[in-house]
Amino acid sequence: MAQFDTIIIGAGAAGLMCAAQAPGRTLLIDHAKAAGEKIRISGGGRCNFTNMYAGPENYISGNPHFVKSALARYTQWDFIDWVAQSGIAYHEKTLGQLFCDHSAKDIINMLTSAVSAAGVQTALNTAVQRVENGPAGYTLHLSGPDGAYPCHTRNLVVATGGKPIPKMGATDFGLKLAQQFGLPITETFAGLVPYTFQGDTLDMCKSLAGVAFPSTMRTGATFTEAALFTHRGLSGPAALQTSSYWSAGDPVSLSILSADETRRLLQTARQAHGKRSVDAAFHGALPARLIPVALSGLNLPQRLGDITTAQIDAITDRMANWTLHPNGTEGYRTAEVMVGGVDTDALSSQTLQAKDHPGLYFIGECVDVTGWLGGYNFQWAWSSGWVAAQAIKSAL
Ligand SMILES: Cc1cc2nc3c(=O)[nH]c(=O)nc-3n(C[C@H](O)[C@H](O)[C@H](O)COP(=O)(O)OP(=O)(O)OC[C@H]3O[C@@H](n4cnc5c(N)ncnc54)[C@H](O)[C@@H]3O)c2cc1C
Repeated sequence: MAQFDTIIIGAGAAGLMCAAQAPGRTLLIDHAKAAGEKIRISGGGRCNFTNMYAGPENYISGNPHFVKSALARYTQWDFIDWVAQSGIAYHEKTLGQLFCDHSAKDIINMLTSAVSAAGVQTALNTAVQRVENGPAGYTLHLSGPDGAYPCHTRNLVVATGGKPIPKMGATDFGLKLAQQFGLPITETFAGLVPYTFQGDTLDMCKSLAGVAFPSTMRTGATFTEAALFTHRGLSGPAALQTSSYWSAGDPVSLSILSADETRRLLQTARQAHGKRSVDAAFHGALPARLIPVALSGLNLPQRLGDITTAQIDAITDRMANWTLHPNGTEGYRTAEVMVGGVDTDALSSQTLQAKDHPGLYFIGECVDVTGWLGGYNFQWAWSSGWVAAQAIKSAL
């Protein structure tokens, strides 16, 4: 039986990083045809590979302190240095988000070159049928292009990611394996995903499809970023960010103009153009298609001059606190991340090793650590992959 020091299951972001650093005889396996498929499609093909401001506060986890050690030991600046030294041109798009100038493939090439240089054996198109553990490590029963074969390893790193985009080969393998070894799993759901609606609200979304606007969105957490109506519902960064904090049945509150700004616009317009429609007060401040929809149902007079104090209050409330009731999200079909995963209580934050199973590591998205939109999820993949590799190095 082939013997390895380390077998890494999953050649995505975290698995590639871990493999590039892993010492000794290492096997990296993936059931997909190619490594790093999610990197390839990320950031619209340009990969938002990290965030200059990444810190523990940008992550959701049952234990908010869990990420601190890994993020501090392998920082965004470590990854940025590697990208720069590899000659990959990049730029900041907004809010510290760093993207490749050319293609996400530059990041995949950087990682796969380092994996090859480290002498790692890579087995793509390879599935894991069974994992058994014994006193000296783990036996994996694999099936690949050349048939079925067993392998033995001292260290097993699970880097199989989360459930989003099943049609790309995403699975819950990491969660199932954790359960096989008795590790607890936190509740999982689709995050960084658009909201969906039904009935009149869905009709409204359809009528506004393509309208983007700055907003402050609240539900569980508050984000001030762009929002976008689509044929299916509400998307854009603000919607994606809040979706990771949303619970089924919760309303989502949308501020499209602050209360102060709404009152100021109404007052100014009423004094200067009392004969104009109420909509006119918001021309230039909001997308034209959005204004009548945002004001609908408020029973407003024809002319600004006839508006009452109660109606000003109602408009102000609508603009600053427009409440919508999603009936769900688009789910794993389009989500960028899975919220939840292997419970961090069962893992060492210093090494990502399972506390009760020496040599068994969980890294990347399969762990109950979920980053915000903006390069934070890849940073977690790099940091967690790197610290697991260092732990293996010091144990070999
Ligand atoms: C459309 C999209 C865009 C994104 N854009 C960004 C972005 O710009 N910036 C950012 O920070 N994050 C982004 N993300 C999130 C980011 O891609 C993930 O958080 C990150 O890839 C997680 O890394 P990972 O290594 O844990 O998992 P993955 O990168 O998903 O890798 C898991 C690997 O395991 C393999 N695998 C799964 N199950 C098995 C199995 N049973 N047997 C063998 N192999 C298996 C998969 O084929 C895959 O190669 C995006 C996600 C999506 C879906």
